[in-house]
Amino acid sequence: MDLTYPPEAEAFRQEIRAWLEEHLPKGWGEPGFRMSPEEKKAFNRDWVRTLHQGRWICASWPTEYGGRGLSLIEQVVLNEEFARVDAPMRADFFGDTLVGPTILQWGTEEQKREFIPKILSGTIAWCQGFSEPDAGSDLASLKTRAVLDGDEWVISGQKVWTTQAQFADYIFLLARTDPEAPKHAGISYLLVPMKQPGIEVRPIQQIDASAEFNEVYFDNARCPKENVVGGVNNGWKVAMTTLGFERGASSTTGHRRFQKELDAVIGAARDNGRAQDPGVRQSLAKAWSKVKIMQINGFRSLTDALNGTHHTAALGACNKMFWSEYHRDAMNLYVDIMGMAGQVLTGSRAAADAQDADLEGPLARRGSASYPVTDLQASFFFSRSETIWGGTAEIQRNIVGERVLGLPKEPKAATA
Ligand SMILES: Cc1cc2nc3c(=O)[nH]c(=O)nc-3n(C[C@H](O)[C@H](O)[C@H](O)COP(=O)(O)OP(=O)(O)OC[C@H]3O[C@@H](n4cnc5c(N)ncnc54)[C@H](O)[C@@H]3O)c2cc1C
Repeated sequence: MDLTYPPEAEAFRQEIRAWLEEHLPKGWGEPGFRMSPEEKKAFNRDWVRTLHQGRWICASWPTEYGGRGLSLIEQVVLNEEFARVDAPMRADFFGDTLVGPTILQWGTEEQKREFIPKILSGTIAWCQGFSEPDAGSDLASLKTRAVLDGDEWVISGQKVWTTQAQFADYIFLLARTDPEAPKHAGISYLLVPMKQPGIEVRPIQQIDASAEFNEVYFDNARCPKENVVGGVNNGWKVAMTTLGFERGASSTTGHRRFQKELDAVIGAARDNGRAQDPGVRQSLAKAWSKVKIMQINGFRSLTDALNGTHHTAALGACNKMFWSEYHRDAMNLYVDIMGMAGQVLTGSRAAADAQDADLEGPLARRGSASYPVTDLQASFFFSRSETIWGGTAEIQRNIVGERVLGLPKEPKAATA
């Protein structure tokens, strides 16, 4: 593990700091800084454009498609600087983090030229069509089908838990294209326009009346023949690339968000006197240690990546399991510390409304105006889902067991 950065990286850090200082609203990050819902909406709309002009969105992507071609260490410095001042750095989670890097790795030249610039400029929004009613952890059991009809794929079936489908222009989905092949072999990865008659999106309303994910029904929906990524019937490998990005995302800077939040939990414990309770102190110390472990593991992932000894899938699985379970436990601790007061909804309606304009993919939770939660209450609710989406904690354990520790493969259920 190497904890120092080369001088070029530090020079780049200064460049980013200067840019942020010049472009963020005055007072950003200072105590008491507030934006009205209108200001927040305007900021979110304009900020993507400003980021795009600064060429900071997905800045590691190749220059020929509009990226900056940053080295890994520059990318880490960039992430650190944006995280330090809490500045949003993406246009669309699904585009930037999942389908964009997948297209860069597996896509044709035409697909890269068509989609990458639109992802960088935030002009198309995406959703992820993997899970189905009978295919979640066992994703390869998916039944949605795509059949070639002349120059188009015709798609029929159903997806579920599709986050942001109601806002998306495109869905990257897995469909069975060879029903005769073994289940992992007959799948293709398609890019399908959402706004067409053959697609119906039905929002799933949650307990707080918000609906961030959906059921999506395909009834002879269509996409061009050439919108298959990574080759026909090769979709499983392509999907694993996407899931690797989903699980490995922000492993080097993720701890910052947790540290900030834990500071707020510690603050709440001090304010209501629970910080004097020896059991609470033990639990807070344990949580703090876990955030430190995440920070150190982040350095380890980075050093591995720089040395070329990186094993994305395995590291991603370890990270995802660790942070999601940490976060669920830390948020339970927060609610324990708050006692009955933790159940009182003291978030403002305006803040809940404003969150609608503050979408940042599945990590950001949209509150609803009729259920005004505070940031920590929202985080408590959303943390319940983090050991599920992107592959459950149990599935991550299977991956770590089999691929990192070399344990025997999980026994399959006997078929009758
Ligand atoms: C907030 C949120 C957003 C989501 N967004 C999307 C999205 O945008 N697009 C999308 O495609 N999907 C999305 N999902 C779906 C998510 O990927 C699935 O929920 C997840 O893969 C688990 O599948 P499942 O819900 O069918 O549970 P199941 O697979 O039915 O699992 C049920 C339980 O059994 C356990 N289990 C299953 N198999 C094993 C095994 N082999 N070994 C040990 N334990 C096992 C699981 O860990 C789990 O506890 C989202 C989910 C959530 C919660």
